[in-house]
Amino acid sequence: MFLWRALSGALAVSVCLQAHGMNTDLTCSLCQDAIESISHVLFQCWPAREVWEITNIPMPNQGFTDSLHDNLAFILKLMSNDGVSLNMRMAIPWILWGIWKHRNGIKYAGTQGDLNALVTHALEEAEVWNKLMEAPSHSSSGRATVIRLDSRWSKPPLEMLKSSNRIAAELRGFLWMLHSLYDLHLNNIEVWSDCNAAVEAIIDSPNWPRYHSYLDRIHRLLPQFGKVIFKVSSTKANGIAREIALSVTRDGRGQSYLARGGPVWLQSRIDEEKRR
Ligand SMILES: [Zn+2]
Repeated sequence: MFLWRALSGALAVSVCLQAHGMNTDLTCSLCQDAIESISHVLFQCWPAREVWEITNIPMPNQGFTDSLHDNLAFILKLMSNDGVSLNMRMAIPWILWGIWKHRNGIKYAGTQGDLNALVTHALEEAEVWNKLMEAPSHSSSGRATVIRLDSRWSKPPLEMLKSSNRIAAELRGFLWMLHSLYDLHLNNIEVWSDCNAAVEAIIDSPNWPRYHSYLDRIHRLLPQFGKVIFKVSSTKANGIAREIALSVTRDGRGQSYLARGGPVWLQSRIDEEKRR
């Protein structure tokens, strides 16, 4: 349904509004860097590029083009490509929809959704949808159809998302951190990371084209600071931060919990570190 609406050009992107005689600014409201076509929003603007990067599915060699038709044709072909996991293929319509909603969220509601969550959510939606399609229909018996998610229900392949793109995750972390430090007016900063490749990518960006959507944004932010030094540390040196990070996923903590004093193990871990 959504694919059809995108194709029919009925979505209220500013180019379309223009075509209908409404006087609106044609520039993309998210990046102010291009004409806001449907193709731009779904494939070329920064949230789209980031989302497609997170999915880790193969992209056109030359990147997406300005042609909505070509891009959708590529995506539709991808949906029958056995080289891509079935879960991810099935999630593609939800991903497109998610990118669209994300854009509307920023534009009309001033909210900025998490792009990792967007992909996870799309995978979940697709899985629920597929279960519904698979479930036998009892409607002919006249009883209400009860759809039970049985033991075959499995969580979406989060592991895949987590492990597949360590560098992208680190760069996303850098971006978030730089934004935060900038907001706090901290001008001279030293950034330590145990992800050598991510630091390399920042220093030698042209050789890391796969991550350019992050790298571009990082390099746009860097001149805002007086001095930024990137350093690589050993995994060990970052022990406490790592344990906090691991506890977030292990214990299913969706929100910051450190402000409330943190869990019991944390204090003893900090004391232990002091003694070394
Ligand atoms: Zn844009």
